[in-house]
Amino acid sequence: MNVLIRLDGIGRSYGGAGGAPPARALSDVSLSIREGEYVAIVGASGSGKSTLMHILGCLDRPDSGTYRFEGRDVAALPPDERARLRREAFGFVFQGYHLIPTDSALENAALPALYAGEARADRERRAAALLERLGMGGRLAHRPAQLSGGQQQRVSIARALANGGRVILADEPTGALDTHSGAEVMALFDELSARGHTLILITHDPQVAARARRVIEIRDGRVVADRPAAGAAAPPATLPAAPGAAPEAASASAPARVSSPASAAADAGPSLRAGTRPVDTEGRGGKGERLRAGHAPAASALAEAWRAAWRSMALNRVRTALTLLGIVAGVASVIVMLAIGRGAKEEVVRQMGALGAAILYVSGGVAPEGGVEGVVTLDDLAAVAELPGIARVMPVIGNPVMLRHGAHARPAYVVASTADLPAIHRWPVARGRFHIAAENRELAPVVVLGSRLRERLLPDVADPIGQLVLIDTTPFEVIGVMRAKGAESGSASYDDQAFIPFDTGRARIFTSIGEPEYAVVEARSPQHAVAAEAAMRDLLRMRHGRESFGISNAAAKLQAAAESRNAMTLMLGLIAAVSLLVGGIGVMNVMLMTVRERTREIGIRMAVGARRRDIRRQFLTEAALVSLCGGAAGVALGLGIGLALLAAGVQLVFSLTALLGAFGCAVATGLASGLMPARAAARLDPVAALSGG
Ligand code: ADP
Ligand code: MG
Repeated sequence: MNVLIRLDGIGRSYGGAGGAPPARALSDVSLSIREGEYVAIVGASGSGKSTLMHILGCLDRPDSGTYRFEGRDVAALPPDERARLRREAFGFVFQGYHLIPTDSALENAALPALYAGEARADRERRAAALLERLGMGGRLAHRPAQLSGGQQQRVSIARALANGGRVILADEPTGALDTHSGAEVMALFDELSARGHTLILITHDPQVAARARRVIEIRDGRVVADRPAAGAAAPPATLPAAPGAAPEAASASAPARVSSPASAAADAGPSLRAGTRPVDTEGRGGKGERLRAGHAPAASALAEAWRAAWRSMALNRVRTALTLLGIVAGVASVIVMLAIGRGAKEEVVRQMGALGAAILYVSGGVAPEGGVEGVVTLDDLAAVAELPGIARVMPVIGNPVMLRHGAHARPAYVVASTADLPAIHRWPVARGRFHIAAENRELAPVVVLGSRLRERLLPDVADPIGQLVLIDTTPFEVIGVMRAKGAESGSASYDDQAFIPFDTGRARIFTSIGEPEYAVVEARSPQHAVAAEAAMRDLLRMRHGRESFGISNAAAKLQAAAESRNAMTLMLGLIAAVSLLVGGIGVMNVMLMTVRERTREIGIRMAVGARRRDIRRQFLTEAALVSLCGGAAGVALGLGIGLALLAAGVQLVFSLTALLGAFGCAVATGLASGLMPARAAARLDPVAALSGG
């Protein structure tokens, strides 16, 4: 005779936290139950029956005393081991059925096998077989709400048998059923008992208790009687006993005759004969070994978590959508903001390229304190050219002059400068060449035409190179044509200019002007522009004795613009990041709510053997799914907005890094914010969760 369960001096109190005296639900309960026994625990309401069952089923822990299952002290087991015990040894049939409302009858019945690590196809095949034997064959896909009480109780019995149901714990299994359903359920229990399952049944119904072989009565948390049941030998009433089970079922001393407990569980397992069909729940033989050997394969468990997560999301569509909104907005704004920022930056870079990267303009001017207008002389410029950050200095005289060729006459802005102009302005010639330093020295009468000027002045000439044009009254030879700059810079007036060597200009055209009107100074790089400007200002102030000149720093202006744009991009990026964070907090909020709403479900899952990590994984998966969807929707929205802006003419450049980064952030935030609720869910006490938190 194998003692399966032994309680010694078990006590359990509730409350007593806030100074109030704790209420004793159980005091000094000692009893032992052998493998294969059929025990009814009876007592008035509030006497401690449910508390006792929770302790027996490892859903709750006693405050005092010891509980040994197969000789092992259960209190010493870590949580996962207790979960394993629940999963492998016990099958619970709750008074309120405690089915997962969102799952079908089949999925509910297969749940314990999920946590035992069985493949989906296997566990559903077995659950279907069990349900069929219990007369539920036609209702596998029904959800609990679509089933009657009796049917739900059958599903919960099938679930209790899913992993073998070595010990079946049933709390008022008929309490909520009509007489007929109640009788059928009791008949099922009789059969299970006949098959060798250990049955512990809680009831306050004497008729139900009479079906058991042994009745334990408790009152006010104490065992007051422990006796064989009066009608212990009564055969099952509504369903004929299975032939093989008859000898045990017929005898009050059945427990002694049931073969070894292990073989009863392994051989007969959940075998159950309902009606006339023999029950064969295949695959249980040896199953016990496998269950003990390993845990849920990660892939299958993950797939299941995904399915559950998807379902819970679909069931709460509105709430999910609202939660997602935060993440979607966050991701979309990060993407759009960064694209706009990059667009602006590239625009600045482009402008810099068009203008020349690091250009300063120097000209004479009136000092702040007044006086004669200063002149920046060639000598000044020679000194400037010696400054460290300066790459090139180009003196310029430019004035409108009349140009003529044949019958055509055009007023044009004639620029006298050095040969550096194409390099400084990043403006190459399209045809011929630019004038060179030697021509400057020789005062050569050569001219390079702007592209539009060439078209207007020499419209009928196929090759303008070598043609003579009159600038004012002096003939100049055309040696080149500039590339059209208007399209690039937006200012077509550049293309109406004519370019001649500086000294040629001073000698032949601008004879009254001795010194340059202004100079274009190129710093070594845009980064040198500011320092170059300061050095130049100091130098000229020293040479002039006052600030009778002006320096305009195009590069600095562009850089200032770029920096203010950078600052704006940064700010927008921050706002976007904050909205991403808020989105994450939204996910956390919803997950916390979900955990609260679903404490009962968590309790059920734990009762059928889910480990803490299973629960944690489920809620983390839900958070991941929500944030994955949010991230994907956010990327789509961001791209949509971006494309609309592009169509509207806003400069923006998408970056894959930003896209992936925002998406990754969304998922990470969602996961991180799901972590806390997931842990909270996993830490729930099974029994507390079951009673609804
Ligand atoms: P029964 O199932 O026999 O009706 P219970 O085991 O549910 O009795 O309860 C036994 C006693 O413990 C009752 O007095 C009940 O009020 C108390 N009790 C049960 N659960 C809790 C709980 N979670 N918190 C506080 N008291 C509880
Ligand atoms: Mg109760």
